[in-house]
Amino acid sequence: MNIDIRALCAFLGLSEFVSVDIETTGLDPQENEIIEVAAVRFSDQGQEDFQSFVKPLAAIPATITQLTGISDKDVSEAASIAAVLPLLSEFIGDLPIVGQNIRFDLAFLDINAARLADDDDYLQTRQRHDFHYFPNYFVDTQELARIFNPVLPSYRLGELCRHYEIALPEAHRALHDARATGELLIKLLDDGVAAGADVFHEMQALLAPIEDPFKTMVDGFLEYFAAHPDNAGGDITRFWHFVSTHFNSIGDPEAEDSGANSTSIGLADVFAEDGYLQEKLPDFETRSGQLEMAEKVDTALANDHFLIVEAGTGTGKSLAYLVPAVLHSHRVERENGPIVISTNTKNLQEQLFYKDLPALASAMPQRFSAVLLKGKANYLCLDRMDNNLDASQGRLNHYERKAVLPLLVWARFTQTGDIAENNGFQAERNTGTWNKFIAENNYCPGRRCKLYEQCHLMRVRNLARRVDLVIVNHSLVFADLATDNSVLGEYRSIIFDEAHNIEKTATEYLGTVLNYWQLRRFSHNVYRAERNPSGLVHQLQHNLELAALAQESNAHLIALADEAKMAAGVFLETTEQLFRYMANALAHQNEGQTGYRQNRYRFASNDNLYVKLQEQLPALSQALQPLVQVLDRLGFTLHQEEDRFPRQEQMRLEFIALHSLAVAIGEVLDYFCEIDDKSMINWLEAPRRQDGIDVLFRAAPLRINELLHEHLFAHLRSAVFTSATLRVDNDFSYFENRTGIRLAVARQCDHYHAPAAFDFKQQVKVMIPAFLPDPRSADYATALADFLTTLHLREKRGTLVLFTAYSLLNQVYRDLRMRFEGRENVLLGQGQDGSRSAIMQRFRQHGRAMLLGADSFWEGVDVIGPALEIVCLSKLPFEVPTDPVIAARMEEVERQGKNAFFDYSIPEAVIRFRQGFGRLIRSHSDRGVVLLTDTRLIRMRYGRRFIDALPVQADTYRDLDTLVDDLKHFFTQQ
Ligand code: SF4
Repeated sequence: MNIDIRALCAFLGLSEFVSVDIETTGLDPQENEIIEVAAVRFSDQGQEDFQSFVKPLAAIPATITQLTGISDKDVSEAASIAAVLPLLSEFIGDLPIVGQNIRFDLAFLDINAARLADDDDYLQTRQRHDFHYFPNYFVDTQELARIFNPVLPSYRLGELCRHYEIALPEAHRALHDARATGELLIKLLDDGVAAGADVFHEMQALLAPIEDPFKTMVDGFLEYFAAHPDNAGGDITRFWHFVSTHFNSIGDPEAEDSGANSTSIGLADVFAEDGYLQEKLPDFETRSGQLEMAEKVDTALANDHFLIVEAGTGTGKSLAYLVPAVLHSHRVERENGPIVISTNTKNLQEQLFYKDLPALASAMPQRFSAVLLKGKANYLCLDRMDNNLDASQGRLNHYERKAVLPLLVWARFTQTGDIAENNGFQAERNTGTWNKFIAENNYCPGRRCKLYEQCHLMRVRNLARRVDLVIVNHSLVFADLATDNSVLGEYRSIIFDEAHNIEKTATEYLGTVLNYWQLRRFSHNVYRAERNPSGLVHQLQHNLELAALAQESNAHLIALADEAKMAAGVFLETTEQLFRYMANALAHQNEGQTGYRQNRYRFASNDNLYVKLQEQLPALSQALQPLVQVLDRLGFTLHQEEDRFPRQEQMRLEFIALHSLAVAIGEVLDYFCEIDDKSMINWLEAPRRQDGIDVLFRAAPLRINELLHEHLFAHLRSAVFTSATLRVDNDFSYFENRTGIRLAVARQCDHYHAPAAFDFKQQVKVMIPAFLPDPRSADYATALADFLTTLHLREKRGTLVLFTAYSLLNQVYRDLRMRFEGRENVLLGQGQDGSRSAIMQRFRQHGRAMLLGADSFWEGVDVIGPALEIVCLSKLPFEVPTDPVIAARMEEVERQGKNAFFDYSIPEAVIRFRQGFGRLIRSHSDRGVVLLTDTRLIRMRYGRRFIDALPVQADTYRDLDTLVDDLKHFFTQQ
């Protein structure tokens, strides 16, 4: 494809433009200051630079110095913003401004310009993105990248430059960023042409009713395509590489086996030296325990047993269950359904599907088929997309019209329709919008859909019933249980990896949730009156008007539409009243308390809190009823009065889907009107913000084991449960009891503990600093920060500090932040320094950073090599005993005549403690230190249960110097 970029730039008004970047002391243009400004003018004559430091009034925060490398010293002699801004303004003139996330830069420049102009009115009334002093046409490269190339892993400037091979010698320095951004624009325009004219026509239609600078670009592209028809077809082939690596099926379920008879292939043929795996996979090495585990899995699958396997990192456990699963699938009849393999995390799921299974497919002589299956809400419904684009009036609000642009290019090449591929769209931030592009309950007519043959969801679901292996996650398994196997259908065997999470995930998915946003979204999907009316009823009215049918013949539908609008309004108003009332009630619960504020409130049917709820909830139930009825009647009427306007059938299906949702909401409301407090745990969660009303209503099953036994295990022929941490006190009983495996008394359940794959005694040193105070004492945070500072200054190594609560993490972070200056010491905190993936990336890249993490960091961190050489477990990971689920389960244990602390809290904490320990050694070459700073380990009798759970002895230290000397010594030994 020949693209004339110069001609394109002329059509876009970008023959000459200025790329701008600033560095600031923070993110808030009202509060923070500019410390560096740069601009680069791009034209046919080449590039011209403008750069200046700016002296701020306040000191530069350490985090900013760390990020940019700009210190107070660098700006001490610099000009003030008052002196720099006129020069910059003159340099830019009236040329278009280009920038990465340019609205951020423009907001700072604009506010400073207003201050210089003493424009109080503007400063007081200024709306976000209302650029008054820099009113130039602007182009945001981040936005373009999200739209034209929506499948990139990240849209940060550094990542974009890496992808497009643009030099960026120093990120977060204004001049380097501005130069790179200008070059990036050219690459992105090239991608824009590759999208083709049709996509731009769709964009033009979507953006028609709104004001946005991007519209100018869309019009320019269309003019370019009209003048260069050879380019109008676009060039989707540039996504072929992506498509070839983002698939969700492997093998053909209908293909004949290649002739290799699975009964003649033994596990040893696969795993042995010179076996199939070693022959095809150069990195494959035989490992202790792997073959033995594979044999155990094979026996369990062949003999309809259950099997529990604990196998640590390095065992190669995924191949140890995948290989027997593949062999076994050929020994039994397909009618029995596939073998389901379930993981807890996305990382492991992707490793199985994109790494292990393709490796097996190339190495084993036997063909097999597999799919990666997710819940319905992950897949793009082509029919709904069609409707939204074809008749966006009333369906999408103004914000959504812009937000959906990254879906357009992607929809043309994706082979899976799985929104996880599309980072450009930001599905987590746009949940409500995405819900308009999926087949919600009862919307999909299945085979009767005109797009059935191309449908991503139908394809993957149909395959899932025909293949040998289905890869899913625990959430889908339990969500499927809750809907009577509507997704997975019948299956004979299941393998749970990361099985220690079963109880937790089942608790979440077998329970019930009701929240304010869910109800508000539902009401808005029916009808939203504010600003630009939207919603299905608005769409119906619009279609009736367009159809220009005799008013009389539409009278019934018009009346129903009015009724629905009214009912949606009343429902939303009642919802707001209820949630405001409950938010107030919860705020009163905390009155008089100092320090820790509870935010989860368990209630039983005779509690005051519930009495208050019961007084209010019926009103909401009643407000829902007219809506349920009118939605039903609308669906029915559209069915009866056929073909009044185009796409009437789709609209009918959408009314049916909304009606189903209304019925489902009604069922949840009914539950909370009459709770079951024998077998369920019920609680409310307070809004995150003090003035918020988004109270969460929740209910979860008390006894997961009974549910799993009855609804899952009893129907299976075999099941395998594996994880690196299943045993407590060297025994599997705790796990068996909690998950319900024990209840299947007639079933044979085998156990296997794979030998450690690493030489922990050589690779790990475990140290307990006994000189630290009790972790529950007030001075613990400061003492821990002192300890970590000394350690890091004297032996700088990649360090992960794990916390059990954000309060302690934040306190230690603040303390350390004051002491960590400049680029030498990099401190990263969960919730403080960006998203989890951004933090992990910086941690890996820096190599000697200190990362403070809580929650998922106890399990999800997998860093090989020197970037992670010290793991500190700051506290024993006991669950909060007042948490509604934990409290209810502890009471249940007591009712069984056991001790809640010894028989529930400690076992749970030991499993998590072992997970935390497991972050350190991820390969044979890793070496490192685990610091156990909770001195209860040596002062409390129960401490031994934790220490004994580790594969190495712990050494206790009475003073800091000896500990640091020993730690240094350990690292110098090889
Ligand atoms: S078959 Fe169902 S999910 Fe697929 S495109 Fe049609 S309506 Fe959407």
